[in-house]
Parts: sequence; structure tokens; C-alpha cells
Amino acid sequence: MSKYIFITGGVVSSLGKGILSASIGKLLESRGLKVSIIKCDPYINVDPGTMNPYQHGEVYVTEDGAETDLDLGHYERFTSAKISSENNITSGMVYNSVIKKERDGVYLGDTVQVIPHITDEIKSRIKKVSANRKLDVIIVEIGGTVGDIESLPFLEAIRQFKQDVGFKNAMNIHLTLVPYLKSSEEIKTKPTQHSVGKLREIGIQPEIIVCRSEKSITAESRQKISLFCNVEKEAVIQAADVDCIYEVPLMLKEQWLDELIVRKLDIPAFDRDLDVWRNNVVERAKNLKNAVTIAVVGKYISLKDAYKSIYEALAHAGIKNNVIVNTVKIESEGITKNNIHDMLKDADGILIPGGFGTRGTEGKIAAVRYAREKKVPFLGLCLGMQMAVIEYARNVCGFDKANSTEFLPKTPYPVISLMEHQRKTKQKGATMRLGAYPCNIKKNTNSSRAYRRKRIYERHRHRYEFNSKYRKAMEKKGMIFAGTSPDGRLVEIIEVKKHPWFVAVQYHPEFKSKPDLPHPLFRDFIAGALKYKRNKA
Ligand code: GLN
Repeated sequence: MSKYIFITGGVVSSLGKGILSASIGKLLESRGLKVSIIKCDPYINVDPGTMNPYQHGEVYVTEDGAETDLDLGHYERFTSAKISSENNITSGMVYNSVIKKERDGVYLGDTVQVIPHITDEIKSRIKKVSANRKLDVIIVEIGGTVGDIESLPFLEAIRQFKQDVGFKNAMNIHLTLVPYLKSSEEIKTKPTQHSVGKLREIGIQPEIIVCRSEKSITAESRQKISLFCNVEKEAVIQAADVDCIYEVPLMLKEQWLDELIVRKLDIPAFDRDLDVWRNNVVERAKNLKNAVTIAVVGKYISLKDAYKSIYEALAHAGIKNNVIVNTVKIESEGITKNNIHDMLKDADGILIPGGFGTRGTEGKIAAVRYAREKKVPFLGLCLGMQMAVIEYARNVCGFDKANSTEFLPKTPYPVISLMEHQRKTKQKGATMRLGAYPCNIKKNTNSSRAYRRKRIYERHRHRYEFNSKYRKAMEKKGMIFAGTSPDGRLVEIIEVKKHPWFVAVQYHPEFKSKPDLPHPLFRDFIAGALKYKRNKA
């Protein structure tokens, strides 16, 4: 039987519940346990796929093609847990299925209510994850902050869950903020007391409290939190700010968090250290020798979370190549003929991420041209590949006004066009080409040198594709079709001739990069950037 850990957050949002959950997963794996991590999101959207990145941050795509919360990215980067569509539960999904069941007559005669119908649906979705896989521990992160109206049904569901499975089989960990007041030079425990009080009002008593704070928590404050929040003193854990997020599991292990958990849940677990992680990831990340500058030219630049997995994948590649990767974030809408050189001249590599909509596309196309002509290493992801194709069509093949039909439906050269099966699709949610698909790699390309294999599987999220009508003409002009779907119909990777490293892909390699196992394309992109920088000097 699986054991359960429920993670809640209090006082303010953005405390890092996702990283805490992922770190606990990592700690438990280091004890030889098989874990999975679920994220519950209180919003009414069925999934975040229809939300603007400014609302939500990155949409993380799983292997099985679910559009999910970016915290699932942390889960995959920190642990080896299998993360699929079942690992993200939203209010939208829960209400959707309860309402469908009501219409199907499943509850005939009943008044359908939040308790028990919605809460039962939440519980059964959590249980389904353990029923389908043999897991020792399931970690469930509840999105939002305690006190939000939206998250109440989830909190009630996890309260009941503990009753259902027995108090020895489930526990609650609450992450809070312990602020530091400069004027009085004190750290304050009151917000934590209030937030735990709020939890207890609805019947949840946390066994462990994890405190985010800028300053070290004094013995006195620890005592206070322990006393007023009704937890043991050693169960007050401090989560100080760290330079490298991958250090969090180490910091928690130093305070015996994993030991506390296995003891409280009574799980027989051997102990293993985290030395490999410490040496291969954290120590390396903190002692990098060189540095490269990568320009990320995108549309959602002001929000760090919008390209979360990309920034992480760049950092992983940096660890592997022993370089700090400094990113310069460039708002593509602001690029003009006059300022492009100033904006990109310091870049050792240029990356164009995925995206939707016309805004900023011309700036991205100009950035591709700059990278191609000046031979700056280039990595294009999804829309980034489409931009690269359009740029090549216009400036090398002479296809004037070439474009994607997403941006210019009447373009004379629709080099990027809607995929066949998308033409009839009207519904917007979960209807893109999503999840992992196979791709065959052409020999003697930068892609094959990176992957060192013939067949790869990568995750997709797009509606438009390279229009194969233009394949021959563009190949003649030096475009290399380095990867295609096994039937040869869909173009998945393009490269260009006479360029040291120019790779653009229709998929999202960033989702599969891990700190101890960087994605081969990111790894080689950063290696290319380092080479470029050395040649420049
Ligand atoms: N908007 C493009 C498409 O739908 C690219 C999508 C993306 O970059 N994820 O094909």
C-alpha cells in the first residue's frame, strides 16, 4: 500500500512548493523508495493549455501529451518518477467529470455537492495514481495558498484522505514564510502561526513545517513555531534561500527531513547519501569556470516562469560544459534594423523559444537572420524552428513575403502551414499535436552528432508544421532536413549548411533535460557557444 504526503503552502504564494515537493521526492528516492508526485491546481481551466504564459508561466508537456503545470517539470528534473497526465489534477477536470457523471445519471436521485461528490472525485483521482503503479510514496502538492476559497475542496479532500487511509499512512507538510523585519532586525513567526491556525480550522494538523526565510531561524523562533503550531521542534525545518535550486534536497537532508518522514510514516527504508547529486550537479554548478552569454529572443521575456524549462535546460548544459550560462532576455517586439546589432552583438548563442500569435515574430525572424549570417550558434524551438524556416525562405530562397499561415493566412509562400488534421479542429483545449512522437535523424548532421542515435522521441505542442511542398526547393538552397517523422512526412529538425551550429526543432527538447543528464541539443548548443566565444576572442 502507498503512503501519502500532502504539501500545502501558507502566507504567500511562490514560496517554492513545487521545488519542495520535488526535493522530497528526491530525498525519498535516495532512500530506495518509489515515488510519484501529483499537482492539484484549484483553477477552473481543465488544463493550463489555454492560458497565457503571463497568467500561468510555462505549460509543461508530459510524455503522454498532457498540458500541465510547470511544477511537473520540477518533479521530472529532480526525480525519476513517471509523470503523466494523471499527475496534474485541476478543479476544471474534477468538475467536468462530476457534471458529466450527473448528466449520465450516475448520481440519480442525489443532490450533487462539493462534499462528497467533488471531494470523492479528487480522492479517487489521487488514488488512481497509486492503483496504476506500484509506489511506496505519493506526494501531493496542493496549489494556491491556505485561505484561498478555490483550494478548499482540495484541502477537505486531503483531510478526509488521511481518515480513509489511516493516520499512519498519510502526513501533511506545510510550507510557510518566516519574514525578516529589517527595522526591528527580527524574524517573525506570527504569519506562520496564523497560516497553520487556518489549516487547523479546517481540520488539518501538519506534522512538519518548512519555513522559507532569508535569515537563519533562531532556536527561540523554532521553539515558538513548535509550541504554537503544535509540531515537534525537530519538525520545524528551515528552507533558506539557495543559489542553486538543486541544492534544496541537500539542505533538507542536513536537517533530517527524510528521516522524519520515513519515521512518521513508518516506512522501512535504507539510507543512501546524495553524494552523486551533490558532486555531479550541485558542486559543479557552484564552481563553473567559464561563462557564455545566450540571447533568448522571445515574447514572454519579463516573466521568468514563462520559459522555465528552457532556462533550466540551459543551466544543465552549462553544468556539463563547465560554464555559467548568462541569459540575456530580449523582447522580440523591440528589435529593429537599427538596434539588432547592439542587442545581439554580445551573444555567444541565440535561442528562440516556442510561442503563439503574430506579436514579435518579425523581430524573431530578424534574430534568426543575424544568427545565420554572423554564424552565431542558434537553437530554435517549435515556433523558433518555424521562424528559422521563414527566414531562410525569404532571405536565401527568395520567397518574398514567405510566412506561416498562422500569421499571414494569404501569404504567397506558406512555408509553415496548418497540419492536415488540424484543419477541421475548432475546439482549442488539448487539440494540438501533443506529447512524444518518434523522429528519425539524418546521418552526418549536428543533430546526429548530438543524439548519437537514429531514432529519438521528443515532446510536441503545435498546430502548424513545415509545408513539405517547399522541401525540395529549400534543400537545393542548402537547408538540411535533419530529422523527420519515421514516415518521412513531417519535418522535425532543420539545419543549415555552412554554419557551425544551427539547429531548429519542431518539438520541445527542454522538457527532457535533467541537471545530471542535460539534453544533447542544449549540451552541444552551449559547447558551440563556448567555441564561438573562444574564436571571437
Ligand atoms: N504557434 C506555433 C504552432 O502552433 C508554434 C507552437 C509552439 O511554439 N509551441 O505550430
